[in-house]
Amino acid sequence: MRILLIDDDELDRVAVIRALKQSGLMLDIRQCATAAAGLKVAAEEHFDAILLDYRLPDQDGVEVLQRLRSGAFGHVAILMLSRQEDPAVAEQCLEAGAQDFLLKDEVDGRRLTRAICQARQRYSMEEALKASHEKLRALSEHDSLTGLLNRRGFEVTLNVAMENSLRKQKGLAVLLLDIDDFKSINDTLGHSSGDAVLIEIARRLKLMVRAGDSFCRLGGDEFVLITNNLEHEEQASLLAERLIGVLREPFILTSAELMITASVGIAVLDCSTKNSSDLLNHADVAMYRAKQDGRNRFRFYSEKLHAAVQHITTLKREMHTAISNQEFVVYYQPQFDAQDRKLAGMEALVRWNHPRLGLLAPSDFIPIAENTGLIVDIGNWVLRESCRQLSVWLNRYPEFDRNLTVSVNLSPIQLEHASLIQDVREALSSNYLAPHRLELEITESSLIGDQGRAVATLSELASRNIILSLDDFGTGYSSMHHLKLFPIKELKIDREFVSTIGINCESDRLLIAMIRFAQALSLKIVAEGIETKEQADFCAFNGCTILQGYYYSKPISAAEFEANFFTHSRVHTE
Ligand code: C2E
Ligand code: CA
Ligand code: CA
Repeated sequence: MRILLIDDDELDRVAVIRALKQSGLMLDIRQCATAAAGLKVAAEEHFDAILLDYRLPDQDGVEVLQRLRSGAFGHVAILMLSRQEDPAVAEQCLEAGAQDFLLKDEVDGRRLTRAICQARQRYSMEEALKASHEKLRALSEHDSLTGLLNRRGFEVTLNVAMENSLRKQKGLAVLLLDIDDFKSINDTLGHSSGDAVLIEIARRLKLMVRAGDSFCRLGGDEFVLITNNLEHEEQASLLAERLIGVLREPFILTSAELMITASVGIAVLDCSTKNSSDLLNHADVAMYRAKQDGRNRFRFYSEKLHAAVQHITTLKREMHTAISNQEFVVYYQPQFDAQDRKLAGMEALVRWNHPRLGLLAPSDFIPIAENTGLIVDIGNWVLRESCRQLSVWLNRYPEFDRNLTVSVNLSPIQLEHASLIQDVREALSSNYLAPHRLELEITESSLIGDQGRAVATLSELASRNIILSLDDFGTGYSSMHHLKLFPIKELKIDREFVSTIGINCESDRLLIAMIRFAQALSLKIVAEGIETKEQADFCAFNGCTILQGYYYSKPISAAEFEANFFTHSRVHTE
């Protein structure tokens, strides 16, 4: 057994060594007279036990003890020796990591060797306990799927990183990364493929980590990077770009090859951040914004962004009760026959009569409603309300019964929803309305995702004589393939093309070409956004079927519509 004795008093050393020798054990004893010499020897050589005098000339014994326990020295049992009996000092030494505290006067061979053996045993037990604690802690702070830190580990790590950042005056940022539409991977390929993707994502992200930075998986498909020692914000944006880039490589699974994108929110530690949960919330706000702005990108947190996101969060909450509180209203914009300029129908355009904010336009809340899925209920309400209104008008003004139609806008989310066909049937039948009275306006973006399903839904609707209209034509894909694949009966030419009539010959020619194209397919053609007489005449002359726009009327409430277009029936021939 190798023993190091650190004591400045030579007589004491001699006494201790004599006592040790009496034990009959095979001992190899080294002695030092100062703390400095003792620490040096302890660092260079391995010992089974250290006997350390509490009083040393160059350093306090407890300090030396703490140094020895700081991790830079090997594993060794430590016994403190003292001349005075002082329970407080003894306790202090045991707390600082000594295994025993002995009075020099009591040292004799047997006692000392027994104490050394017991100290060694105690030390190894303490070490084992510490190791299993460490293991448990590591387990509780790591995610079992990816091996990254979990939410708990993230919090611990972030708190330490924040303290360091403030102390060292170095920048710190968290980058919150969320996989775009991960749910559909789980839904279509199953959870085990989803897990395989998450493991691969974690593997790729780990490769991006610089020394001192940490990657964590907060849960689901949410990952977060804590990055330290930032000199400027651009470093965080470069990092975000690299993270998004590393996921762009295809993911090869046994059953499929996948393309994945991610949205990243960045929050930098600054004076507005009070604690670690603030920082994560800020990153969350920025990530939300990145999603809103079209995904597959990163955004930085800012106060302005925060206000905007808070506004959206409030609207989201309020929207849940808005239907039952009857806060939605449908406005109607008239549509006129291009030939005789008589009323041909109306487009239903929803408004939210918000108790605090007044009348909100669809652009203020439809994207939020689509995001939360509430659009399904709102859209269904608009559908029923518009059918009810048209039915009331047809009953009240039978002389108008040409083929007045109501056009209702459908969100892509509604088209994906299983209840659509049933909802449409109910809206018509409960109002005794013939199907050809209803036009459903869809945008080309609805036709992108699961085409098989969209084709089936739209064909079912068309087979029931409901008219399908392609909205905003000319702005998006403008795909002939879509027109061939889907049972579309009507094109609504976007107002972008109408607004340049008479200003730009090239766009005039394009408009005419579009009309010819729709005519060749025997489609009904609606020109929307007509604001001048010239535009109305141009569209009518070139073959549009229906005219709609501010020139005739803005969208107005049902009461106004009734007063303007039914009670004082007007023909627009001026
Ligand atoms: P949209 O379907 O393209 O509707 C036409 C929009 O153009 C309406 O805006 C209308 O007020 C506006 N507009 C009509 N004529 C003119 C004009 O001459 N000049 C100009 N500058 N604008 C004109 P609004 O009511 O704000 O609706 C915006 C969009 O919100 C609609 O575009 C539609 O995509 C969506 N939306 C409206 N109601 C609903 C709904 O019930 N469900 C769904 N899913 N979307 C709706
Ligand atoms: Ca529309
Ligand atoms: Ca439109």
